[in-house]
Amino acid sequence: MHSIKMVDLHGQYTKIKAEIDQAIQKVIDNTSFVKGEDVQLFEAELGNYLGIDHVIACANGTDALQIALMALDLKPGDEVITADFTFIATAEVIALLGLKPVLVDVDPETFLIDTQLIEKNITPRTKAIIPVHLFGQIANMDEIMRIAQKHRLFVIEDNAQAIGADYYGSINKKAGTIGHIGCTSFFPSKNLGCFGDGGALFTNDEKLATRIRSVANHGMTRRYYHDDIGINSRLDGIQAAILRVKLKYLDDYNSQRANAASIYDSLLGDISEITVPNRTPLSNHIFHQYTLKGDGFDREAFIQFLKEKGVPCMIYYPVPLHMQKAYLHYDFDNNAFPVTDALCKTVFSLPMHTELTLAEQTYMANCIKEFFLKA
Ligand SMILES: *Cc1c(COP(=O)(O)O)cnc(C)c1O
Repeated sequence: MHSIKMVDLHGQYTKIKAEIDQAIQKVIDNTSFVKGEDVQLFEAELGNYLGIDHVIACANGTDALQIALMALDLKPGDEVITADFTFIATAEVIALLGLKPVLVDVDPETFLIDTQLIEKNITPRTKAIIPVHLFGQIANMDEIMRIAQKHRLFVIEDNAQAIGADYYGSINKKAGTIGHIGCTSFFPSKNLGCFGDGGALFTNDEKLATRIRSVANHGMTRRYYHDDIGINSRLDGIQAAILRVKLKYLDDYNSQRANAASIYDSLLGDISEITVPNRTPLSNHIFHQYTLKGDGFDREAFIQFLKEKGVPCMIYYPVPLHMQKAYLHYDFDNNAFPVTDALCKTVFSLPMHTELTLAEQTYMANCIKEFFLKA
């Protein structure tokens, strides 16, 4: 068996090489390297795909989250609620802006923010909630929007892992278009990835859109007049041209991932020591990651065993945010996150991408079964 990859970006590129190469060449020929036509067209095409009025492209997903918070005019010390079980970027931007990250635990089945805990953590200083649509499923936006309306809070969706997912709650919308602002990342391994860094924000609020555009561009609405202190965060032309090509394939990519997930489910579903990913009834799952829970075995030994068999396996995420060294000074209550604590010790993610073959998946499943037979 040839080596199995955690993510196979080259295989995916090979299938659309001619289109991608031509798109890149065109940007070079036009020297529209920054803020060119492709960026504008990509923003319009993504807006159309998502069914949202305004898309503002930026340099990466972390910037998108930061710009979103900056656009809301929050004051130092204001509190922003987010999940304890996520990539650091979500909490990092809150901390960077002098705001206070307020972490809440997640649901043990879906790994998504536990909405019952959100309301318990609201104080007079709470200004925003950032739900994370982790691994490709959408958080309970009905509940989150209800709580936000009641307490007059902003909702910023961290949609870096769920671009293209559909919400099936009381509203039928695309992930990232339900809250006041949606943020996403086009990091190469994301479901819609470019060939470098990229990100975007979405909103239906015209005033917010104007503000976001200004913040992302040195606080400038008219050239060399700076009304806000902003940042410099832009998507370059080559990335936009690549994303325009790949956006056409996003639905196919997401269904290829979901198909691979169903195959894993059927191959691994009856192994008692592991639990295949749960599905929320509130959205489809576009499987940014295929993440399982283990029970009662040595995870390190398991991963080492798979590694020797040529099966890559990653842990998203090994340390809860409330235990990250740089965040200890916030004095989080170490007893408040039993689910995240347990997940960080037991989860593991198998290779998930658009190029997985049945032969690869069968081989991986056999290796996993072999480990538990031996154990
Ligand atoms: C990838 C990711 C980000 C950050 O995106 P970058 O483009 O890498 O800055 C933010 N939040 C989550 C949940 C992510 O997975």
